[in-house]
Amino acid sequence: MSQPNAVHGLRGDQIPVAPTITLNNAVEMPQLGFGVFRISPEQASTCVRTALQAGYRLVDTAASYGNEAAVGEALASSGVRREDVFVTTKVWNADHGYDNTLRAFETSRSLLGLDYLDLYLIHWPMPARDMYLDTWRALERLYADGLARAIGVSNFAQRHLNRLLAAANVVPAVNQVEMHPGFPQEALRDFNREHGIITQAWSPLGQGKGLLAHPVVLEVAERNGRTPAQVVLRWHIQAGVAAIPKSVAPQRIRENLAIFDFALTAADMAALSAVGSGQDRLGPDPEIFSVT
Ligand code: NAD
Repeated sequence: MSQPNAVHGLRGDQIPVAPTITLNNAVEMPQLGFGVFRISPEQASTCVRTALQAGYRLVDTAASYGNEAAVGEALASSGVRREDVFVTTKVWNADHGYDNTLRAFETSRSLLGLDYLDLYLIHWPMPARDMYLDTWRALERLYADGLARAIGVSNFAQRHLNRLLAAANVVPAVNQVEMHPGFPQEALRDFNREHGIITQAWSPLGQGKGLLAHPVVLEVAERNGRTPAQVVLRWHIQAGVAAIPKSVAPQRIRENLAIFDFALTAADMAALSAVGSGQDRLGPDPEIFSVT
């Protein structure tokens, strides 16, 4: 019988390791990481330490999350070597533009207490402000200077990427977008793949809302002897994307990484892909989102 605190798929003190995905510049990025959106600085240091102890080797933060200093403190005190952790942060909407972005990067880097970032992303394209090409030039400069090992974008639709690719010297390594079974982003994923851009799913669990209680998700979970969150995360892995689930509960933090010792069948994958309308967007539409 399993212990009350046992994690599905984990025996004893076993620590799972996420496989890596090779980015278009040969940098290796863990396929599953830990996201820290809406985690207070106080909670963030504890959660990031828990995640690193649980085996996560990617942390996804952003200037706008207000917890970069706490994340940096957790990284520094974790005992995990800097080169073994992949750290992502993002330039916020208010800091678009070449000079502003260089300044914002410096602030983030200093709050995180790091010499370099592994991945720096443009958080939102904000097409109405039309500054993302200048912002991208700043990211190219940071990349050329070795301050970011990889650069990418977030919430870019094909239209924004086409424009960026026409002007860019460096192809984005990653496009981090909302993706979960209810909003599978198939066309954008195909576009990203054709251009050598890795899709990274935010809100991969559908923010823990209705998705994890959907009868099909429950049935697939039950049949595989896993939790709903584990089968949804496994769906992402087998879809070939990267994902960054968030949790503040230690048990769930561990559970969400314990997904590399089982596989869904093609029928399970198809069943999960069909749980929503395909257009069940939970977050803002990048075409109009321009909050600063
Ligand atoms: P998510 O899909 O990861 O859902 C998180 C929620 O799911 C938790 O708050 C909890 O309520 C629930 N949950 C987590 N693990 C669970 C488990 N094992 N069992 C049951 N419930 C569980 O959503 P998110 O936090 O919005 O997204 C994850 C990360 O993606 C963020 O922390 C952030 O790093 C990133 N993100 C990026 C953007 C962007 O614009 N680039 C936007 C949103 C989020």
